[in-house]
Amino acid sequence: MYNAKAYSAANATSPLAQATIARRDPTETDVQIEILFCGICHSDVHQARNEWSGVMPTVYPCVPGHEIVGRVTKVGSAVKKFKQGDLAAVGCLVDSDRTCPECRAGLEQFCPNLILTYNFPDKHLGGVTYGGYSDSVVVDENFVLSVPSNLDLAGAAPLLCAGITTYSPMRHWGVTKGKKVGVVGLGGLGHMGVKFAHALGAYTVVFTTSPGKKDDALRLGGDEVVISKNADEMAKHAGSFDFILDAVAVEHDVNAYIQLLRRDGNLTMVGAPEKPLPVSVFGLIFARRSFSGSLIGSIAETQEMLDFCGQNNIISDVEVIPIQKVNEAYERVIKSDVKYRFSIDMASLKSE
Ligand code: NAP
Ligand code: ZN
Repeated sequence: MYNAKAYSAANATSPLAQATIARRDPTETDVQIEILFCGICHSDVHQARNEWSGVMPTVYPCVPGHEIVGRVTKVGSAVKKFKQGDLAAVGCLVDSDRTCPECRAGLEQFCPNLILTYNFPDKHLGGVTYGGYSDSVVVDENFVLSVPSNLDLAGAAPLLCAGITTYSPMRHWGVTKGKKVGVVGLGGLGHMGVKFAHALGAYTVVFTTSPGKKDDALRLGGDEVVISKNADEMAKHAGSFDFILDAVAVEHDVNAYIQLLRRDGNLTMVGAPEKPLPVSVFGLIFARRSFSGSLIGSIAETQEMLDFCGQNNIISDVEVIPIQKVNEAYERVIKSDVKYRFSIDMASLKSE
């Protein structure tokens, strides 16, 4: 066991502050990583503030962060894929039972015994897992990803959650050339969704509540932008979408988007609002539409997504901040005022 520097929340209302946490010494199958950048996901805010108390209550102290890139500092004797000095990344998953049908199908994100990167039981040290707002982390090699060498590291970090969470449902629902795809909410996830829909060749429409994001939506790969508060603009697209990805973090009217799907169209929620959303069944049955959800992606698919990003030069648009600005950043995330992901430069933690 050794001490690592971190930023943690002591309770649901306290700002994040510097703390010392314990990390395990690498076992023979572990990779120890010096964290260089960690993205700020809206899930970090939900979790630090215990907004998902009904499903995943937060255990304090809570060290958020699941968009991790860094450099390997040590590997266990049985580690094959990584060596000291390699670039490496860790996303939302750090373990699973590896024996259940989901794991055997290569979909460990749906394992009933999955271990998320923070706020999940830590079988090595007891207590809960601690995330990437830290200078170092130790993870089993099966849950460590390789980062294509051409990608800027600050912009690559958000691929580990915002990237895979939008890539995976688009691949699952067959987003490709000739499809009309909508992305709702131009935040961290949404802006990656726009980049992927565009890169996969779809006609991409961005739905935003923020008129000021219109130019960015087009620059990021949108073919059209709809200000979702404007009913006339919405009505023009009725019954026309093959697929819509909803990445909104708060309660909102999903039925307005279900109406925009064509026959057999699908709306997938990746946004995880605190409260249930009412769904109009009539909106679904009259056109055999479907409404579904999606959780991050598997480890293999995360590597596939990273390689796709390497080949297509895709990274997140980031505002790089020192860790000392994390509380300010949280307030800006809540106000939908981030262009389009905060990436924490972990070198700033060294000076604390
Ligand atoms: P984010 O950066 O805060 O983006 C959310 C976007 O939602 C905002 O930028 C805003 O876009 C839009 N929005 C905000 N308030 C709204 C309102 N009142 N009505 C309609 N739209 C509104 O958050 P994020 O990090 O992308 O995360 C989004 C959600 O996905 C969170 O709930 C997060 O927990 C969840 N998540 C889920 C998974 C998964 O595996 N399913 C993984 C990661 C995150 P505009 O300004 O364009 O309207
Ligand atoms: Zn996330």
